[in-house]
Amino acid sequence: MSKYDPIFYSENAGEDESVLCPVCGRQLINNPADQLWELDFIDADLRVHTVQDDILDDWLIMCPACFYIDHDFRHVPEKRAELAAFVQSEKYLSLFPDNNPSTRELFSVYLILQTMLQAPPILIADIHQRLCWIFEDDNDKPRASFHRGKAIEFYEKAAQRSGNDPAVTQLIWYLLANLYRRSGAFKKAKQILLNLNTEKERYHKLYLFQKQLIDAKDCSAPPLPGKELFYDNDA
Ligand SMILES: [Zn+2]
Repeated sequence: MSKYDPIFYSENAGEDESVLCPVCGRQLINNPADQLWELDFIDADLRVHTVQDDILDDWLIMCPACFYIDHDFRHVPEKRAELAAFVQSEKYLSLFPDNNPSTRELFSVYLILQTMLQAPPILIADIHQRLCWIFEDDNDKPRASFHRGKAIEFYEKAAQRSGNDPAVTQLIWYLLANLYRRSGAFKKAKQILLNLNTEKERYHKLYLFQKQLIDAKDCSAPPLPGKELFYDNDA
């Protein structure tokens, strides 16, 4: 069996969360989908805050054998041979200062990997948003602002894509309006927010919440008024 044979990938991935690394074949435990977190609150960025821990610290998994990083190892990248060559190169290994990378370092390398794999703009935007949060937590405003700008750039690209699921499009408009507001571009934020279809109660509430923050020229990320606003039950 070739190293790049699709069968090489675990067929039971969904059952026991034990998967094989798509790069080196090492068996590892994937992110359990049913991981138990006690939800504390969700903020205006739609960042989930849990009672136990910062969810970002557990978001990415690194293969202990080859250092490949992904959020979900059941996902096998299309360009697997190219990816494996990169991950096994000296250049890739030089991205890590040591063999115990921080959450920030993991996300930085994950961004490089997904850029190389030409991931959809919505995923690249999401990685930049998460890096923005990490730098905000570290009080590093210039880098947080850089990644916020990049998140805007890639969500704009994602919004222009045709064939998006309507629920995804709604999410993109909300997040874009929020990112513009967070960067102090209130006029642009308001303009983008108008794209939100407010027929459904959930989006109407999100619209009113965001509009109030924009009108108050508030750049912060307070909690959403209700946890249920996060979940698109009728998508
Ligand atoms: Zn591996």
